[in-house]
Amino acid sequence: MAKVVLKDLTKVFKKGKNLIYASNKINLEVSDGRSFGIVGPSGGGKTTLLRLIAGLELPTDGYIYFDEKMVSAPNRIIVDPADRGIAMVFQNWALYPNMTIYDNIAFPLRNMKVPKAEIDKKVKEVAEILNIQHILDHYPREVSGGQMQRTALARALVKNPKILLLDEPFSNLDAQIRDSARALVRKIQRELKLTTIIVSHDPADIFAITEEAGVIVNGILVQKGNASEIYDNPINETVSKLLGDINIIKAEIKDSHIKLGNIMIPINRKLDKGVIDIGIRPEDIKISETNDIPGFVNVGKVKIKVSSYVAGTFKVVVSPIDDESIELNVNTEKHREAGTDINLFIKPEKIKIFDEKGNKI
Ligand code: ADP
Ligand code: MG
Repeated sequence: MAKVVLKDLTKVFKKGKNLIYASNKINLEVSDGRSFGIVGPSGGGKTTLLRLIAGLELPTDGYIYFDEKMVSAPNRIIVDPADRGIAMVFQNWALYPNMTIYDNIAFPLRNMKVPKAEIDKKVKEVAEILNIQHILDHYPREVSGGQMQRTALARALVKNPKILLLDEPFSNLDAQIRDSARALVRKIQRELKLTTIIVSHDPADIFAITEEAGVIVNGILVQKGNASEIYDNPINETVSKLLGDINIIKAEIKDSHIKLGNIMIPINRKLDKGVIDIGIRPEDIKISETNDIPGFVNVGKVKIKVSSYVAGTFKVVVSPIDDESIELNVNTEKHREAGTDINLFIKPEKIKIFDEKGNKI
């Protein structure tokens, strides 16, 4: 096992006359045996960061250490990728179709010219951990999707890696096996105490695997911390959207309230008068015919504009009754007729307030 330390890690690509900072002065420490998740948009620099750690990219600047050993330095690969004790799993979990499950798992060891008896022992050991010992003589087409993904993970683990790097590992899986794949990776990471870094555009992947997380945008690690803390306290609008659904709405600060048309939401801190953006996550808003909901504040009447059924919940769009240009998305358990007025409930303490640049205030 190993600790991973990144110091001012920078990777610049040249695209014509432009310089692209795929990694920009990244500082990160992932303790031995811990997992760390990074969320970021497409092109944010997630794959580049993993490739740098794997030794597949030369840093333009900065350093990478595994424990106290420097493995990469500016324009220098000090430890070769093959000697880094790294296993990397990519999006497709691709197996070799004309090799048995056994041979798929054994493949990396045969490449390393490991003696046959040792390969056999190791393959059976990891097959047991992943509960695929009974399908070792099958071909990939003869096993289930879940078993294929266990095989791909076994192939990554068979070399006894010190560090596991996962690049959007669940993106191409069916929704049905995605949850079990996430649970499996989480379990293996904990059991084997593998230092693990997972990157994905999907925050659900990160939340499923790890508590410690970061957000990468334009090559910059803009926020680090506990995943749920980042979800609750994003440093800016971009981060708030990357971490999950959120209503971003223009609002006015007036008389220590956030004013959305006729809707007045109390705020318990001093803010200058003026126009701001607010962010409210769908779970922090409710609508109801009743006058109170425990934990929520009744902030006034809204009009139902649209109600549609998506994946087990009704997605309802509401507007303040005197301003239809303002729209809020709310999830509810039952259908509400468009045109009706209804009480809006909010958790004021969960509202995120952003300045004109989108930074949290
Ligand atoms: P992500 O994995 O988050 O989608 P990448 O790390 O693949 O992002 O890419 C980050 C940025 O670096 C993008 O702008 C991408 O176009 C650029 N990039 C990545 N690899 C190369 C390369 N080999 N040559 C030029 N530009 C690259
Ligand atoms: Mg990528």
